[in-house]
Parts: sequence; structure tokens; C-alpha cells
Amino acid sequence: MDDTPPGFNDDRESRVKLPEERDIVALGIIVAAVIMFIGHAGAVLPGTVRVMLGTGSGPAGYMVSAFLLNAALVIFGWRRYRELMAEVRERRASEEEARELAFTDPLTGSLNRRSIVPEVDRLIAETRAQGGSAVAFIMLDLDHFKQINDLNGHRAGDTMLITMARRVRQVLPETAKLARLGGDEFACVMRYDPRDPAMIDRIASAIISAGRQPFEVAGGELAISLSLGIACSSALPDPCENPAEEMLHMADMAMYHAKKNGRNRYDWFEAKMERELRMRADLENGILAGIARGEFVPFYEQQVDIETGELTGFEMLARWQSPRLGLVTPDRFIPVAEELGVIAELSESVIAQALRDAREWDPRLTLAVNISPVQMRDPWFAQRLLKLMAEARFPAERLEIEITEMCLNENIGLVRSMVTSLKNQGVSISLDDFGIGYATLAQLRALPFDRIKIDRQFIARLSRTEDTANVISTIASIGEGMNLPVTAEGIETESLRDSLRRIGTFKGQGYFYGKPETAEQVRTRLKSEARLAADTAANDRATHDAPAVHAADPAA
Ligand code: C2E
Ligand code: MG
Ligand code: MG
Repeated sequence: MDDTPPGFNDDRESRVKLPEERDIVALGIIVAAVIMFIGHAGAVLPGTVRVMLGTGSGPAGYMVSAFLLNAALVIFGWRRYRELMAEVRERRASEEEARELAFTDPLTGSLNRRSIVPEVDRLIAETRAQGGSAVAFIMLDLDHFKQINDLNGHRAGDTMLITMARRVRQVLPETAKLARLGGDEFACVMRYDPRDPAMIDRIASAIISAGRQPFEVAGGELAISLSLGIACSSALPDPCENPAEEMLHMADMAMYHAKKNGRNRYDWFEAKMERELRMRADLENGILAGIARGEFVPFYEQQVDIETGELTGFEMLARWQSPRLGLVTPDRFIPVAEELGVIAELSESVIAQALRDAREWDPRLTLAVNISPVQMRDPWFAQRLLKLMAEARFPAERLEIEITEMCLNENIGLVRSMVTSLKNQGVSISLDDFGIGYATLAQLRALPFDRIKIDRQFIARLSRTEDTANVISTIASIGEGMNLPVTAEGIETESLRDSLRRIGTFKGQGYFYGKPETAEQVRTRLKSEARLAADTAANDRATHDAPAVHAADPAA
């Protein structure tokens, strides 16, 4: 049976000719030998019979020899022919096997990438010629499959892939094709009526729920989800040079979109996805080049005692001075740098600059820096930060690191040991953005925090709801009870500042006190207030007593 996928370019013509196809010659020789044998027998046998009956002379000696040789030739030829036929059958079987392997995925038995491409091209050509129908290409990928492999071994991963392929096949229409494109990526291809895309929606949903069923692997149960991207042949240009490759590309982009938007879902391809992807690639390249060119710089936001208005320090906030995009805020580049695996490099470069800047300020001013949860996965993080401080000769007591509750989801043992070694050196630890997540009282105890920072979105609600005031008051009491001072972020107005003053004792920061400024602007501000290190040293020499308090509060 010919199992070549339809439309596959059959290259049998170019195959090496098997012996069978040349064995007309061998057969000819055997036939000639048999004819000669019959001829020789006709000449030899009558003489032999005459001798046996004693009625005459026997055949000539040379005829007997020729006859015997001829018999040997027939026997030899026949045996050789049978051997050759066996060899041919064997070679044909292994060639079939090789062809089968070339077209199918040996693990799941589905088609493979090589065979699905001509299949899609053929289907598209057919639907275009007939009109009325279109081809849907669904690409699917197992979410976080690497973790399954890493945690349960490759055998468990293989079992999951085999089961997944079987489940997907079960929900596909009979005429649909399933291929494994590689790794944990599959493609399903089928005809459909473009006026009824709901049919493909139903299939995509069925695939997703089939994938969500638990998998019984190695005596236990594993769970996984699928992300799907769908492309439709009606979106292709006409004519299109490589329609299958083009559809694969479109479905891939849609799948990437589904992954970006939370996984365990499907998305249809839309032209805007391509633009988004290109922008994202530009952003990634820009960030990588920007780190190398030193385009990431620290900005500083004032931190103030809201009771007295005294400036107590600055929070460093990274900015990207992109030659193409202008000044970019961290919400755009931090997540991308995290995904690219360059967040540590970026962060350390801005922290190093900040430590140099802050060394010139009044030594009573603190410097707070934000640390990404991704950086907390590096067991050498604490050592690297201490090295930066040593290089800048910056006293650890002046540094605060701000981490969010996301860090508590990391390897908490590792995070705790790094935080402890930083604290032993004198660095303080703040829990940033408190109030918006799910951080609980228990989590506040998970690490030896020195400060809680209430998130600015939460503070913004203070002027609108009574509830928020109660919650902030509760946080303030908890802070007091746990000996954790509290900072309120995002104070934008005098009335917000006043409400906070009524609730409790806080440090504060926000646009009311000032927007983030460059190192130069901070330097100018501090100079005007005689709060550069050089000024304070001179002051301290002149007046050995009370440290000067400088009003940063615009309303103070
Ligand atoms: P964050 O640590 O909570 O920083 C406060 C953010 O609130 C800053 O935004 C600041 O500009 C903004 N903000 C301050 N006061 C006000 C206000 O009164 N009103 C409003 N609407 N916004 C205010 P930014 O600079 O865009 O930073 C956003 C976040 O990016 C930061 O939140 C921090 O989590 C992260 N980030 C900043 N720099 C770094 C860094 O160097 N490394 C890491 N890992 N993350 C950073
Ligand atoms: Mg912060
Ligand atoms: Mg914050």
C-alpha cells in the first residue's frame, strides 16, 4: 500500500533501482539455461537410454559434460534468483520503513513537519480551485512543558505527548490531519466553511478541555494546559508563494499572543499581531543595545517624613534614555528585560550609578533600590550587591532594597538566606507595593522586613472611600505592632498628605513632594539646601550639635 501523504512530492523515480528491476537479465539467463538444458537432455537422454537397454552407443562424452554443467547452471541460477528476491523484499521493507519515518513522528505516530507542509499546500490549492471552503491551521503548544520534563523526567514528558496527541486526534474531524512540529508543538489542519468559524472555535475549545484533563503518568497525576493559535487560509494573499509556511507563521504568532495573554486559551491570527511582534522585537533589540551603550540611567524620587516634611532619602527609579523612543519608564522595559534574562545586568548598571551619585549626598540620606523577583533567583545576588557597594565605597546602612510580594513566590529559603546576609551587612529590606496583591500578615513574617510601602493605587483610593482609610489605619497599626515603619507611595495632593497625617505616622513619597528627577537635578536641589556630602561635612565641623532639618514639603 502506498502511504505517501497526498501531495507529497514522490521521489521514487530518483531512487536507486532495486535488483528486482534489473532481474529480467537473471530470469533471461535462467530461461536460456532451461532451454539449453531441454536441448541437451534431448541429445543426451536417448543415448543414455540406449546404453541402459544395451541397444546402442551412449551420448558423446562432451555432451554429457555439457548436460551436467547445464543442470548445475539451472540449479545455481534458481537458488541465486530466490536469494535475490528475498534480498529485494528485505530492502523494500526497510525502504518503506525509512519513508514512514520520514513522514511521521515516531513518538506520537502523527505526521511530522516535513509532511504537513505539502499537505497544507495541497489542501489550500484544492479549496482555492473549488471555492467555498477554506483551510484552518491550528497550532498548539503545551504550556510550561519544560517543567514537566524537568520535574518528572523525559519519559513522563513523552507519555504526556503521546496521550495528548491521542486526545487531540479524538476531538478532530475525521478528515483533519494532526502533525507534531517538534518538541511540544503540534498542528491540526482541516477544511472548513469560512462562513462558519464557530466550528473551528468549537474544535479549539474541545482541544483545550481535552488537554486540561489530568494525565496519569508514572503512578501519579499531572496537569497541563494548552495555548492555541489559529490561522485561516482566507487571510493569505493570492497568489502566495509558500502558503503552508505562511499559515504556519500566522498560527505561530496567534499562539504567541495566546501565551502572552495568560495561556490555556486560543487566539485567531490578526494582522496587528505581526506589527506587535515586530515592535516587541525592536524593543528587545533596543534594550540589549541600550544596556551595552549605557542608556539606562537612575532617576530619583524624594522620600519624606510626612509629619515634619524632612527629606529622608531617595528611591532610585530606572529610566531608559532611548535615542529612538525618548525617555521610557520601567513598566515598559523591566518585564522585557526580565524575559530576556538581562534584568540583573541592567539593574546592576543603574544601581552602580546610583551608589556613585548618592555618595555625594548628605550621608544621612538613604537610597532605596527596587529588586526584581527574577534577580532573587540568583544565589549570588547578595554577593553581587555587596560587591557593588564595596566598589562604590557606599555604606550598607544607607541602602534599602525594595522587593515585592512576588519575591515570596520564589525559592523562599534562598531569598531568606540572601536577605539575611544583606541585613547582616546593614542593608534594610522593604516590602514594596503592599496592599494590591495578596500579601498577608503571615507573609510579612516570611522575611525580616524593615519597612512596608503601601502601594500608590491604594493611597489614591484614600480620598474616595472610607474603607481604604480604615485599611490604611489597620496597616499602620500592624506596622506599629510589628515594629515596621510604613511608607505611603503616590501622595499627589496636600489633602491626601493631610488624611495620612490624621491616620498615623508615615514616611511618604509622590508627586506632591516632587516627580522623579535626574542625578543632576537632585544634585542641584541638594546643593541649594546645603545637603551635599561636602556641605554637611563642613556644617558638621562648624556646628557639632543638632543636625539641620531641611524642608522638602512644599506645604511645610
Ligand atoms: P515602585 O517601586 O512602586 O515605584 C513607584 C512608581 O510610582 C514610580 O513609577 C513612580 O514614578 C510612580 N509614582 C511616584 N509617585 C507618584 C504619584 O504621585 N502619582 C503617580 N501616578 N505615580 C507616582 P516608575 O518610575 O514608572 O516605576 C514603576 C515601577 O517600576 C516601580 O514601582 C518599580 O517596581 C519598578 N522599577 C523602577 N525602577 C526599577 C529598577 O531599577 N529595577 C527594578 N527591578 N524595578 C524597577
Ligand atoms: Mg519601589
Ligand atoms: Mg511601589
